[in-house]
Amino acid sequence: MPVNFRIREFLYPFSILKMNHFLNKSQWMPREELENYQVRRLRTIVRHASENVPYYRSLFEKLHFNANEINTLDSLSRLPTLTKAVIRQNLKILLASNAKKFHPFAHRTSGSTGEPIEFYLDKPSNVLEFCYYWRHWRWAGYRLGNTFVEFANDYFLMNKSKERDTYHFNPKTRSLKINTMILCDGRIRDIADCIRKFKPNFLFGLPSSMCYLAFFLKKHEISDITFKALFSHGEMLLAYQRKYLENVFECKVFDSYGHMERTVGISECEKGGYHINSEYGILEIIEKELSPCGTTYTGKIVGTSLHNFAMPFIRYEVNDYIEAPVLPSLCSCGRRLPLITKIYGRKEDAIITPDNRIITCLFTLYDEIEGVALGQIVQTSRNELLLRIAKTESFTSASRDHILSLLKGFVGDGMRVKIDYVTLDTLRSEYPRKFKVVVSHITDMEKTLRE
Ligand SMILES: [Zn+2]
Repeated sequence: MPVNFRIREFLYPFSILKMNHFLNKSQWMPREELENYQVRRLRTIVRHASENVPYYRSLFEKLHFNANEINTLDSLSRLPTLTKAVIRQNLKILLASNAKKFHPFAHRTSGSTGEPIEFYLDKPSNVLEFCYYWRHWRWAGYRLGNTFVEFANDYFLMNKSKERDTYHFNPKTRSLKINTMILCDGRIRDIADCIRKFKPNFLFGLPSSMCYLAFFLKKHEISDITFKALFSHGEMLLAYQRKYLENVFECKVFDSYGHMERTVGISECEKGGYHINSEYGILEIIEKELSPCGTTYTGKIVGTSLHNFAMPFIRYEVNDYIEAPVLPSLCSCGRRLPLITKIYGRKEDAIITPDNRIITCLFTLYDEIEGVALGQIVQTSRNELLLRIAKTESFTSASRDHILSLLKGFVGDGMRVKIDYVTLDTLRSEYPRKFKVVVSHITDMEKTLRE
């Protein structure tokens, strides 16, 4: 979930100020008040879905499910979960008939499971997204207008002539995008120079990208790059990564968990508590397994969006796992937003190119490709990648060419690429709990950072 805010999509100052004002207050609300808010929003979303979304209209009729009868969050358990397969099969009838009213825009993502889906987001969910980030960043001392660095690749990939540029600075958002595809020994001094030039206070990126940045800075004895705080997202932040980052950059990492489909958001506060953003969506945990000590349980995340009207996702199976306390606990920060204890998110390997660049973001490769049910990238040697692809009926030679051309943008010309078409069941069976999109036989980040 990059902070890839295109200004025109977020230009609703009145709605943003109103939502921001609410989120400022609601983080301190008693649990009961927060739950009442969720129930009211849920009723609104379900009522809208039953009136305007053909898929839900027929589902609710079949189940005799009535929005007006929703009095607690438990009412949701009467509904089946929404899987990625159901979304793929019912995309057209999941779109609200009055979606235009909410300014819809299409998205495609493979999320952390590697299985691409298409869906629609809208203006109210954009407003929420902006304010959700704004509030979380404030917990770390961010003020609107502060400069931040973001690791990015899409801006550089979109324009061939910028593919190997070091950075792009947007004066309107005060965001300094550093190209993730140039991270290597040979470019680290350029990157350090551009950070010195814009003096950003905050760094936002994948834990793996930030760790490799820290590693190269340390290796080249560049010690004057520090920040007020780091924001990690998009991957599971591992304990050794947090320790390494906090040591090199001399500040705290504020971790967060979310996804493009925007049904749940979890963010870490200044006291280290992982808070569920109750106003963002409803987070349920299913298939619970109690830990041996009996104080926590682990289960699969199911999320319900409370703000996306163009295509409401109700009980969406995110397919990530989290650990939560059996008894609700209070955070020392004083916020009443519920706590969880651990997120089992994306854990991918990095790819090293023949010209020594470290690529950490290759898991997005299949996001835009037509006809890929599930795909994997395996680095078998320094000069060779194996693409393992489970195709759908719509996969064509154009899909293959699209993948190869995108891949070239990331890894360059010197990498040999082989393609192996496999079945969906084969790929899934190798990773029963958490699919890994990028697998390397030659890189090991933990070992690298220890050196
Ligand atoms: Zn807290």
